[in-house]
Amino acid sequence: MIPSFDLLLQGCRLPDGRLVDLGTLDGKIAEIGSLTGHPAHRAVDCGGRVVTPGLVDAHIHLDKALLSSLAPSIEGTVAEALRVTAEAKRGFTVEDIGARARRVLDQAVRAGTTAMRSHVEIDPIVGLKGLEALTKLKREYAPAIDLQLCAFAQEGILRSPGTEGLLERALRTGADLIGGCPYNDSDAHAQIDIVFRLAREFDVDVDFHIDFFDEPEHMDVLYVAEQTVRFGWQGRVAVGHASELAALPPDELDRAAAILKDAGIGIIVLPATDLYLMGRKDVRNVRRGVAPAKRLLAAGVSVAVATNNILNAFTPMGTGDLALMGFLMTAAAHMGTERDVADILAMLTEHPARILRLPDYGLSVGARADLVLWETERVAEVVTTMAPCRLVVKAGRLSLEHERTCREFWRGGA
Ligand SMILES: [Zn+2]
Repeated sequence: MIPSFDLLLQGCRLPDGRLVDLGTLDGKIAEIGSLTGHPAHRAVDCGGRVVTPGLVDAHIHLDKALLSSLAPSIEGTVAEALRVTAEAKRGFTVEDIGARARRVLDQAVRAGTTAMRSHVEIDPIVGLKGLEALTKLKREYAPAIDLQLCAFAQEGILRSPGTEGLLERALRTGADLIGGCPYNDSDAHAQIDIVFRLAREFDVDVDFHIDFFDEPEHMDVLYVAEQTVRFGWQGRVAVGHASELAALPPDELDRAAAILKDAGIGIIVLPATDLYLMGRKDVRNVRRGVAPAKRLLAAGVSVAVATNNILNAFTPMGTGDLALMGFLMTAAAHMGTERDVADILAMLTEHPARILRLPDYGLSVGARADLVLWETERVAEVVTTMAPCRLVVKAGRLSLEHERTCREFWRGGA
């Protein structure tokens, strides 16, 4: 005799098209199938609406979100964004970081994100203030979202003395993994070496901002792949941006993709920032600068699409709604067929879950019940129309439910 489900979603559409009932018990998906009449503490009539696993935002910067009024983008270059944001960072306090991060987390949770990796800047300018603020929020938001904190050396390690010691302190006091930014240091390979050494010392995963240029003039990602294999860190390394991959001729890209696949490196595409900051010197036929997701997927690489920055000099627009990045990808990466759109949804769910190494993720019996019910009966519309999220389930518990009303007075009603 199966006990009562904690929650029973009746008549929901899975991404593979099946119309099923889904029951949760003790935080996990207990059964998927025809469960009519089965007792449940709470039952929801889904009316054929789509259910997906919770969205996973693999790359965001909660600590420097919502800075546009303080440090706006004027030129619209990477160099300017780094400069004005570093300046603004001098005034950061734990309270101010926490207040801005909280606004973004609320947006993300309401839009169906149930797991997220945030970079947290660790350097002599801001010290450990970002980590202190976000560690508190990680605990507070735990019932709604799993938050990974990546100790991130935005200002360089070699050219910013004191950073290495601060990174060690961050890893001792709550950071989940380590991140670097080789293109913003005096010696890219030496920075990569330091990051891997720290990763091994603290047994943590690695996440680099990498090759954020229009031309393939660095391709540091290949050195990251080499070190990943040397350190035995396959499956534990991700890179964000990787815009230079978009500029490789197809045969070179195929070779690079095979190397990334073999090293188990996840690529995180950041379309909002990449579209905004790349191609800035082009006066005609402006390049997109978005890593070639389709070709990387075809080569078997794990590819996530993520938010990165929101309302700052790197990205002067955006919200915490991850589906927006999927919507952007249809146009930015020419991914509009039914198969492409399914791939985009996977880049907001399964792929980032794999990159973040989330345990028991997905829509199968025994998986953790992190679920989103969408206001549509067509799965593609989660991406193509940004169908609103109706309710979110986190670890088997109803996390939130949206109620929407619109009073159309123009129709002549009261
Ligand atoms: Zn970033």
